[in-house]
Amino acid sequence: MRWERVSAHRGKQPKWVGPEGGAGPQNPGSRPFPARRYSRIVGGWDLLPRALLSSLSEPVLLNAPVVAITQGPHDVHVQIKTFPQARNLKALKADVVLLTASGPAVQRITFSPPLPSHVQEVLRGLHYVPATKVFLSFRRPFWREENIEGGHSNTDRPSRMIFYPPPREGALLLASYTWSDATAAFSGLSQEEALRLALDDVAALHGPFVRQLWDGTGVVKRWAEDPHSQGGFVVQPPELWQTEKDYGPYDWSMPYGRIYFAGEHTAYPHGWVETAVKSALRAALKINSREEPALETTSPEGQRQRQGPAHGVAGSPSYDLAEEEGSHSPVQGQLPLQHTTYTRTWH
Ligand SMILES: Cc1cc2nc3c(=O)[nH]c(=O)nc-3n(C[C@H](O)[C@H](O)[C@H](O)COP(=O)(O)OP(=O)(O)OC[C@H]3O[C@@H](n4cnc5c(N)ncnc54)[C@H](O)[C@@H]3O)c2cc1C
Repeated sequence: MRWERVSAHRGKQPKWVGPEGGAGPQNPGSRPFPARRYSRIVGGWDLLPRALLSSLSEPVLLNAPVVAITQGPHDVHVQIKTFPQARNLKALKADVVLLTASGPAVQRITFSPPLPSHVQEVLRGLHYVPATKVFLSFRRPFWREENIEGGHSNTDRPSRMIFYPPPREGALLLASYTWSDATAAFSGLSQEEALRLALDDVAALHGPFVRQLWDGTGVVKRWAEDPHSQGGFVVQPPELWQTEKDYGPYDWSMPYGRIYFAGEHTAYPHGWVETAVKSALRAALKINSREEPALETTSPEGQRQRQGPAHGVAGSPSYDLAEEEGSHSPVQGQLPLQHTTYTRTWH
């Protein structure tokens, strides 16, 4: 697997187009975080899970959603659905479980004994924003004729951001990437309508000739409607007030009995693959240094006594994501930086 730095357009700068369709000033946007550097995996992000998969020796079950997790004194039973219409669930027995599904997905799992009420409350409090991408397939990468190689253009038309593939990576254009309120422009539209809306904006930016170059196909992906994520990523709004019951950010590194948690929602900054990976490493360290679990380990009082600083891991090697070199500061309510920058990672 090869990494490379993400760069802005080479050659001519990207265009900007205004609401009336007329081309605006060239490259109006400054780079809000010029010092930040981003990397991408050459060939696509799916190479990352594929590389992880190749290092696993145990069988991996795909298309097998977990529906229930039951903890006993000596083990934990995980019930999975092996195909959508299955009446009988398959049960797997394990010493511990590492749960990395998104907040909404975790809420649909039945836990026995139930998750403590404050954990359920924290799960309900996670604020996921929607995200939508529209891809259009063209007969040739016409942007190359404008010397555009990678990078993206901004517009205040519905598409908001248009991302160009790097050189030699075909003619599939990410014609629109929206998140949060901006996704509303595409909500309720059929696939055909959404593709055509994005095409209108590409034509407004690059010229009407692109309509002839579109091969009529494309993909619309709305993460808020994906049953396995039910949202794009976590953008936690600032807390307006705190009560005396509040003990600061919830420490997801604390297991609930034999159940450990990881994923972008369990560490800071939210909304990054890097956070998801680091939270999984944090959980792996805890699992490997675990003692026999007690189910009450995640009570707020228990957390307060055990955890010390937020995200610290009592009684095991400390692994504070926020202090990792290169990590962003864990400011709750801060927008994920990649969604506001001029260039960003791509997948
Ligand atoms: C549009 C968009 C663009 C993004 N761009 C970037 C970017 O450029 N750079 C970056 O670093 N990050 C980006 N992110 C964020 C990044 O994708 C997430 O932070 C990351 O994928 C989170 O990983 P995760 O393992 O926590 O969760 P996920 O990737 O959501 O993985 C959770 C997995 O759990 C599975 N699951 C759900 N329910 C169950 C169940 N009941 N049983 C079994 N499995 C279940 C799901 O199918 C899924 O495979 C982007 C996100 C979106 C939506």
